[in-house]
Amino acid sequence: MNPSPSKRAKILVCDELDAIALDVLAEHGHEPIVKTGLTEDELVQEVVGVDALLVRSATKVTRRVIEAADRLQVIGRAGVGVDNVDCAAATERGVVVMNTPTGNSTTTAELAISLLCSLARHVPQANRAVREGSWKKKGLVGTEITGKTLGVVGMGRIGRIVADRAQGLKMQVLGYDPYLDPGSAPITGVEVVSLDDLLARSDFVTLHVPLNDSTRNLLSWERVHRMKPGARLINASRGGVVDEEAVLEALEEGKLAGAAFDVLADEPPGADHPLVVRPDVIVTPHLGASSSEAQRKVAEDIAHQVAAFLESGVAENAVNAPALAPEVLQEIAPFLRLAETMGAFLAQRISAPIRKLELTIGGGIAEHDPGHFRLALLVGMLRESLESDVNFVNAPGLAKERGIRVLESVDEDPYFRQGQIKVRASMRAGGRSHVVAGTVFGREPRFVRIDDVHLDLRPSGILLVTRHRDAPGVVGKLGTILGEAGVNIRGVELGPPGEGDDGVAWGFLSLYDEPSDAVVSRIAALDEVDEVQLVRL
Ligand code: NAD
Repeated sequence: MNPSPSKRAKILVCDELDAIALDVLAEHGHEPIVKTGLTEDELVQEVVGVDALLVRSATKVTRRVIEAADRLQVIGRAGVGVDNVDCAAATERGVVVMNTPTGNSTTTAELAISLLCSLARHVPQANRAVREGSWKKKGLVGTEITGKTLGVVGMGRIGRIVADRAQGLKMQVLGYDPYLDPGSAPITGVEVVSLDDLLARSDFVTLHVPLNDSTRNLLSWERVHRMKPGARLINASRGGVVDEEAVLEALEEGKLAGAAFDVLADEPPGADHPLVVRPDVIVTPHLGASSSEAQRKVAEDIAHQVAAFLESGVAENAVNAPALAPEVLQEIAPFLRLAETMGAFLAQRISAPIRKLELTIGGGIAEHDPGHFRLALLVGMLRESLESDVNFVNAPGLAKERGIRVLESVDEDPYFRQGQIKVRASMRAGGRSHVVAGTVFGREPRFVRIDDVHLDLRPSGILLVTRHRDAPGVVGKLGTILGEAGVNIRGVELGPPGEGDDGVAWGFLSLYDEPSDAVVSRIAALDEVDEVQLVRL
């Protein structure tokens, strides 16, 4: 569809994008302006009168830039991560930020498969030997992959493509993902199993999980040592999800036959990194998304999405907010943030996968479509276990895939007239449920209830949650340990023991800084403390 010249939007492309982006925009009747390498000051000038901004990762779209933009409707990021865009500032101004989450999945999956084949047949090592003048097979005898078992940890976008390709190579595929029940089969031919089972049975294990609190060190020392003897490991997801020292040890002891890393905890590694120098290890420089097709695909996708948004208002892959009129967004934005934070809180508080969410909305905000708050809640919750590209468009589909149901209702007699949100989250049928409720004071979200504890908590930053004996001096002991570690407490909310709680109380301590693992362990070791958890909001 070609908009008439009068409806033509001013589009500024600030980073080097594949030329297809300009072709797509031209097909839609636009004449984008390309200006790359602008400083922040220059961009502040250039952005005046611009309707759409297209970037990759080099341009920083700061709050200053967004505030200088008098007509900006949309910022399009060709790629996944939006760390270079101040999404909060964009939301406040009613500017939609969108990305292209799927553009590089195939390319990354193909790298994992390349690493698998290279590991099986020592391709890089053989090539190196030939260059060094050796034409010998000794030490380069490989293993067939036909009929071998591949364990895919993380069955998201990339993991599923890897599973599919591996079946084409005639491998048996096992899959593990906390959102899939062992025994269920969402992908033809993949046997869904527990992580321990997968590690014990797989000849090759490939990781495709995001890096977050639940996946940091997912392949811990114990798990690496539980892998099938002679297995090979591939990590093309994120450094930090594997205990690299444990892999090194397992290779040295001959428990593992090889490993391939496209990502490492510290990138770039030094040339003398103990994994890099090993002959049974392959390391590539975070090449996962680097193919001309992927670059072309993300440029093409973002151009189509931005053009469609300018023409019809449909915001595909919006990361910051549902498509709403700026004045409505302005009014409900703090409640959207509240709902998103509640999702993030519940996902961290409850370790098992959440299956059911009961969302109750009351007060002034109940006049708006509850769907907006449902989306914000799901986005906050899913971002804890998926990559950061969970957005207001794909969240319902991702939730459905994971068997999460959301029931909505309206509280006809709300305590907070301006608006309040309550969410009850449950795990499996019959499992325990957790509740969080909140409101907005001024424009600032607050939690007013967590389970049976009524409180007034600013849900941002680091929250230390304790379950402890309700005895004199316990809070003082917590404060002393934190104080000795130089961690400043911003606020303390205490939950008195409820009926039947047998003298057990809850503590919610907002902290300015994140305490180290050693500090958390010291707190956990206190006689009076039963449970301690850090929640990042
Ligand atoms: P995705 O969000 O589609 O899938 C991630 C999957 O991991 C989800 O299904 C989620 O349920 C699962 N998961 C979450 N916690 C888990 C746990 N504790 N154990 C097992 N599974 C868990 O993400 P994606 O697009 O498939 O990306 C996967 C990874 O690949 C991400 O870390 C991403 O950053 C990385 N990546 C790397 C490159 C590269 O250059 N090497 C390129 C693109 C993506």
